[in-house]
Amino acid sequence: MQRQEESSEDIVIVGAGLAAALRLHMKGVRSVVLESSPALRALGFAFATWPNAFRALDALGIGDQIRKLHLHIQGLRVMSASTGEIAKEVDFRDEFRCVRRDVLM
Ligand SMILES: Cc1cc2nc3c(=O)[nH]c(=O)nc-3n(C[C@H](O)[C@H](O)[C@H](O)COP(=O)(O)OP(=O)(O)OC[C@H]3O[C@@H](n4cnc5c(N)ncnc54)[C@H](O)[C@@H]3O)c2cc1C
Repeated sequence: MQRQEESSEDIVIVGAGLAAALRLHMKGVRSVVLESSPALRALGFAFATWPNAFRALDALGIGDQIRKLHLHIQGLRVMSASTGEIAKEVDFRDEFRCVRRDVLM
């Protein structure tokens, strides 16, 4: 049986969790991330990003960098392709942006 090196961490994060690990590191808390995927991957094009996500990005110190690269979407209109009539309209009062997944990575 192979002997494994002993390590001591305060927190173990299972599955993704790189942002959480980074924030803990910034606070001086040691953690280890256990992730089954062998590599980071950006699936899809954009990520609908709401105020709570921006609070997390601000905590990591990258919120404003991401804001600069992505428009604040003010609202959404779903229109009928045949008549052009507005079927549904939603106003986004809070911060809402579509953030490119590769940029987020
Ligand atoms: C197609 C699609 C589009 C979406 N679009 C949006 C969007 O635009 N905006 C939005 O806010 N949300 C969106 N979501 C939802 C969002 O992706 C999830 O809410 C979010 O990713 C959940 O995060 P999580 O860390 O809980 O889980 P996940 O992101 O699923 O992370 C779980 C991680 O655990 C790892 N893992 C699994 N099993 C193990 C194991 N046994 N050991 C170690 N690691 C393991 C996986 O590899 C994965 O990296 C979308 C979801 C989908 C499917």
